[in-house]
Amino acid sequence: EAKAAGRGCHVFFEDRMNETIRRRIQLERELRQALAEDQFFLHYQPLICPETGDIGGAEALLRWQHPERGVVSPGEFVPALEESGLIVEAGEWVLREATRQMAAGFGADGRAPARVMVNVSPRQFWAPGFLVAVDSALAESGIDPACLEIEITENLLLADLDAASRIAHALRARGIHLAMDDFGTGYSSLSYLRELPVDTVKIDRVFAQGAEVAGSEAATMVDAMIRMLHALGRRVVVEGIENAGQYSFVREAGADLAQGFYMSRPVLPAQLYDYHRPELPRCRERAADTSRAR
Ligand code: C2E
Ligand code: MG
Ligand code: MG
Ligand code: MG
Repeated sequence: EAKAAGRGCHVFFEDRMNETIRRRIQLERELRQALAEDQFFLHYQPLICPETGDIGGAEALLRWQHPERGVVSPGEFVPALEESGLIVEAGEWVLREATRQMAAGFGADGRAPARVMVNVSPRQFWAPGFLVAVDSALAESGIDPACLEIEITENLLLADLDAASRIAHALRARGIHLAMDDFGTGYSSLSYLRELPVDTVKIDRVFAQGAEVAGSEAATMVDAMIRMLHALGRRVVVEGIENAGQYSFVREAGADLAQGFYMSRPVLPAQLYDYHRPELPRCRERAADTSRAR
């Protein structure tokens, strides 16, 4: 009897496995079709300089216009792109599209921020054609390589820090900027900061949560990270700014750029400049703290 029950359980488990595999195969088929039929598009989220309220950059964020499900977020399909290897093709499309839109300008008046940030996943970064894809996106669009910033994540370094450093230096040799995304949430040791030519560090949004509370652990951590990263000559972005308190905190703490729903959600290119421009405090001028390198 116990044996029969065990077998039933086993069959049930196998059914669920099959179901998961079926859904993954279906998703991959749909993603292949999405690439073939141009169902991807980009949203952009402005990065705001808290000192001035101006746009300092825009991050390209991948979206999928699914024929039945509507707009699908990357959290639901980037892992499948990554596992299937389709991320290489999708990532090349993102590079081409983001640089093309940067060259075309955002909105009717053709304004463009200083920099466009493009996320590159580990599989894409390690693919043999990565640098070639970057070069052809730059050549096709004609943008200044210094206007492109590639965002990578810490976990990518675990595979091979020396090889990552070589690719990073190859990007730098072209004038391209490199950003470390989701800083503080990966599994790598901080020492990579000494070896990698990382221009910008984006402090993950988990750290912004609660940072508006004076004296909180979150505030202390963000403040200390900004100081350390500035001492190392890095530009600092704080992600996930969701309210006025968090915005004025990162402004006081001296972050170079702030990104979050408080200023703008990711939007279509034409809406990039429609962001909420937080009012700068009138009486509290920041002390002569303009000695920073960047
Ligand atoms: P990420 O690179 O860290 O991008 C920031 C994510 O945080 C975006 O989610 C953005 O909408 C969200 N976000 C921005 N401000 C706030 C805020 O104030 N509060 C909260 N709760 N969230 C905020 P999204 O667009 O869903 O993208 C999720 C992740 O998918 C990205 O995280 C990135 O890792 C990946 N991704 C997006 N586009 C691409 C791409 O073109 N290629 C690759 N390889 N990955 C991408
Ligand atoms: Mg990013
Ligand atoms: Mg991020
Ligand atoms: Mg993040």
